[in-house]
Amino acid sequence: MVIKYNWVCNQCQHVNMSGTDSCVKCGCSAYANPDEILARKDPEEFKFKELKKYIESKAVFFLIAPGFIILFFYNGQALYFTLWLVSLNN
Ligand SMILES: [Zn+2]
Repeated sequence: MVIKYNWVCNQCQHVNMSGTDSCVKCGCSAYANPDEILARKDPEEFKFKELKKYIESKAVFFLIAPGFIILFFYNGQALYFTLWLVSLNN
């Protein structure tokens, strides 16, 4: 798809003429999303951001998992307590 107006590159701020879909100065696509721009601009920062995203996705699991373990343990206790009550009635 060709752009029909002059556009400013998101990466290098170069003003590109209409009829192009990638920057003549840096080669960045006119349709590049923020992640793609960052990956081109600062690959280290991009890697760090991806790593952070990964850790955050795992962090949710590590925050929730202990809750389930406690719940499971508590339910186990509740089950034994119920069995104990039932055994008293018999
Ligand atoms: Zn550019």
